[in-house]
Amino acid sequence: VPFDQRDGFIWLDGKLVPWADAKLHVLSHALHYGSAVFEGERLYDGEIFKLTEHSERLHKSAEILDFQVPYSVEEIDAACREVCEANGLINGYVRPIAWRGSEQMGVSAQNNSIHLAIAAWEWGSYFDPAARLKGIRMKFAKYRRPDPATAPVRSKAAGLYMICTIEKHGAEREGYADALMLDWRGYVAEGTGANIFLIKDGVLHTPNPDCFLDGITRRTVIDLAKKRGYEVIERHIKPEELADFSECFITGTAAEVTPVSEIGEYRFEVGDITKTLMEDYINLVQPQRAAAVAAAG
Ligand code: PMP
Repeated sequence: VPFDQRDGFIWLDGKLVPWADAKLHVLSHALHYGSAVFEGERLYDGEIFKLTEHSERLHKSAEILDFQVPYSVEEIDAACREVCEANGLINGYVRPIAWRGSEQMGVSAQNNSIHLAIAAWEWGSYFDPAARLKGIRMKFAKYRRPDPATAPVRSKAAGLYMICTIEKHGAEREGYADALMLDWRGYVAEGTGANIFLIKDGVLHTPNPDCFLDGITRRTVIDLAKKRGYEVIERHIKPEELADFSECFITGTAAEVTPVSEIGEYRFEVGDITKTLMEDYINLVQPQRAAAVAAAG
């Protein structure tokens, strides 16, 4: 079944509509000029992890693109829960998206309506589940994350994903799971949908999020690492430094904590710190799954 023809309901502009009817007009400003912002959330055992942080980020993303989501953070939180319930979901992924409508054509969008839709569906592991044991293989991307003076990099804006899709396709075509993008200066930045951590001598290093999304999972994992007593250093990392690191993992709502075994010519092991933080993350978001994994040995 094509994704837009599934059963279930999508929350659209204040009400639940049948999944296949949640459509928009071809002259929507968002389609022509990229005026859309979105979120990705995970529902674990009936609760959306860090829901309010996501709703707040959606608001902020829109403000950066010079528009306002016409629902409060509390209303968005409630709508996210409502759509999960309407679809009978206990575990899944939630996708709110806000965009400029079709009342006016042209770059200027002063009079266009603002819309909000929220969909939710079952979504298991983002990468091949075997990767949780052996790590994913990544290549270096050709495109770089843009200079904050060039693009609204603090917004989770749909337009910023244009190069992510190109790079993800390039990686998949060559048999890799994902691509590592550098930033405009040439420092290590992020994957196409996840932040990155590197480990050497028991210390975690992660790029300064000064030109890409400071992921909610990234911040969560930094907290978990500090609780374990690990040192975490946020700094600029040059790609050639990857040779010095023994472990690597990426973090994101969809990716959770996924180990990386390979980036270009560099190799990493799925080591103790990576394993510990993968477990700590699952324990935090879904203790029942952690218990099941432990019981299965
Ligand atoms: N970077 C990019 C480009 C992403 O798409 C995501 C996923 N939203 C992340 C980082 C990680 O963000 P979060 O942990 O908030 O999901």
